[in-house]
Amino acid sequence: MDMSDRRGRTFEKLLSPIRAGVHDLRNRVIMGSMHTRLETEPNGIERQVAFYRERAHGEAALIVTGGFAPNAEGMFDPEGPRLDDPQQALGLKLICDAVHQEGSLICAQICHAGRYAKFEGCVAPSAIRAPINRFSPREMSQQDILRTVDDFARAALNAQAAGFDGVEIMGSEGYLINEFTVTHTNKRQDDWGGSADNRHRFPVEIVRAVRDRCGPGFLIIYRISAADLVEGGAPAEEIAALARKIEASGADILNTGIGWHEARVPTIAYPVPRGAWRKAAANVKAAVSIPVVASNRINTPEVAEDILASGDADMVSMARPFLADPHFVKKVREGRAHEINTCIACNQACLDFIFSDRPANCLVNPRAGRETEFRDTPSETPKKVAIVGGGAAGMATAAEAARLGHAITLFEAENRLGGQLNLARVAPGKHEFDETLRYYAALMDRHGVTLRLGLRATVDDLAGFDHVVIASGVTPRIPDIPGIDHPKVATYAEILCGAREAGQTVAIMGAGGIGHDVAEFLVTHPAEANENAAFFDTWGVDGQFRNAGALAGDPLAAVPAKRKVVMLQRKTSKVGQGLGISTGWILRNALRKHGVETLAGVVYQRIDDRGLHVLLNGETKVIAADTIVLCTGQEPVRTLHEALAARGIPASMIGGAAEAAELDALRAIDEGVRLAQSL
Ligand code: NAP
Ligand code: SF4
Repeated sequence: MDMSDRRGRTFEKLLSPIRAGVHDLRNRVIMGSMHTRLETEPNGIERQVAFYRERAHGEAALIVTGGFAPNAEGMFDPEGPRLDDPQQALGLKLICDAVHQEGSLICAQICHAGRYAKFEGCVAPSAIRAPINRFSPREMSQQDILRTVDDFARAALNAQAAGFDGVEIMGSEGYLINEFTVTHTNKRQDDWGGSADNRHRFPVEIVRAVRDRCGPGFLIIYRISAADLVEGGAPAEEIAALARKIEASGADILNTGIGWHEARVPTIAYPVPRGAWRKAAANVKAAVSIPVVASNRINTPEVAEDILASGDADMVSMARPFLADPHFVKKVREGRAHEINTCIACNQACLDFIFSDRPANCLVNPRAGRETEFRDTPSETPKKVAIVGGGAAGMATAAEAARLGHAITLFEAENRLGGQLNLARVAPGKHEFDETLRYYAALMDRHGVTLRLGLRATVDDLAGFDHVVIASGVTPRIPDIPGIDHPKVATYAEILCGAREAGQTVAIMGAGGIGHDVAEFLVTHPAEANENAAFFDTWGVDGQFRNAGALAGDPLAAVPAKRKVVMLQRKTSKVGQGLGISTGWILRNALRKHGVETLAGVVYQRIDDRGLHVLLNGETKVIAADTIVLCTGQEPVRTLHEALAARGIPASMIGGAAEAAELDALRAIDEGVRLAQSL
């Protein structure tokens, strides 16, 4: 990534104000709703205040909170946040005050989980179980529906009393309101089902009730599903008709949502090209005159500006990018866009944490949701620190320590920074790591880090420093089996860095995260993760967003692969089980679609001219392969540690050098930033 592209570039449209309802927004950027689970933590309010204050300080014009249920049935899980108790709602006033002090507006999202709620007794327009939920919903009665409309209005009133400027009514992603609007989940034959007008009645009544109850000055955002991505989803003309009805019912802004949670098309993770869904927002914009917001996979000011300048949308919503960098907009305004820490759409520490009942964090920004644990004050005892290794851990330590006033020299044996990130970035969609490299380069430049590239530091080079940080990373593990030095064998590092080219038939040993990434790299045509048209073709999406559910085919249909790949593991467990919760299904499906074969429970026997010999279910099998790629884990590189100790030079060890097992960029960056804070 060339920083000069971004340095000094202006983003006029993004920074221009806009009026919505009776409110003036200072720019075109909304921080979209995210469930953080901070409310479940000790000091939950204090942590939420710090979290939202920092993002308002970073100049998001309008912040939308995570979803609050309007009643008990509408919660995601039995402990989920809700807004039906006026006293409890008042407890949120501190958050609103903090955001207002920083000059931003804040809206509470009201979201009824419908058939996605994870408990007995969840409700839906029709009693049809969601494929991603083990609980079956009960069909709502007419009385249930009217009561729920009223619950939305009462929740909005509670939000207003707590100081919120408005609410976002969640009508997308397959939650209750969305379940009413499409035939996929609404089989009712009364006034709330059947014709489009009947199916749209529920959201229309909710918006009307909120407007009636909260008055004309209260901001109402309605999040409309602009592409359901499920069979039996809405066609474009129904989405446009609903948008018009919602506008007429009193909404001030239409935000757009893409894809139900049960959709088999990726919508926000890294395999989705940036800005892929902008034309779905443009369809909504063509139907109404209130501001329309584009969302999903907008992560840089360039993409945002382009969407706004082209007229596809009036505003952009970014959620995860505000975890990655709370000061996104402020940096744009100050001409420091090259210093934005960009969301790489990995989902590893945001969604995957939430799905495993942990508060949201961010792979590239360990402070996210942990604001109260970190300090910004410069060190009172600045040190002269050497860092050995310019991978994720080393760069994170260097940038943070230099920011806090330490004098940093970073040694890297290669001629470029990045370490394992230079390999990770080659997997389809993971070129987003280039932004991480650009961010650290910008930060180290700003804070005066001395870079010593192409130098393998010796103990003599490190004498004279107050402290040394060993972040020398990992090297691929070479298993001890006969024939491992056969010319067919290559490490994942050799394949990903381009030192070795794989043949037409490949066996991959090891089916961890790297095995999957290498398999995807070997079978995928690069356009699939870079160009909208190729991505839509691969996943069966109607790129014009006109068909029912915006689908043009089966998202799981086979697609042509670049090579024949077999991936093996010794464990008998399901292949790909350890992948990220919110991205593993995409990777597994992508490999299946490209015809990758997987074998679990193998015993490696030997490698020779015929290929890889394994024992499977007691029988010998030869996997004929032109190339055998080792994705069999890593070993730490830590040669300096003992030598430094012998010379009495204080040193710390972090990242893969400290512990190679399960090393990923999340742990490397977290350890680096925390160590820098403690120096
Ligand atoms: P990994 O997930 O530990 O996988 C390495 C695999 O190699 C193991 O699953 C193991 O499977 C096999 N193995 C280990 N020692 C072996 C030996 N001596 N001989 C033969 N096979 C052996 O590690 P990784 O794939 O190298 O990834 C490193 C880290 O990066 C992990 O934390 C991973 O989660 C993360 N990462 C994640 C993703 C992703 O989620 N998309 C992508 C890249 C990296 P068997 O023992 O069953 O054969
Ligand atoms: Fe973005 Fe990954 Fe951070 Fe989530 S964890 S906000 S996807 S960079």
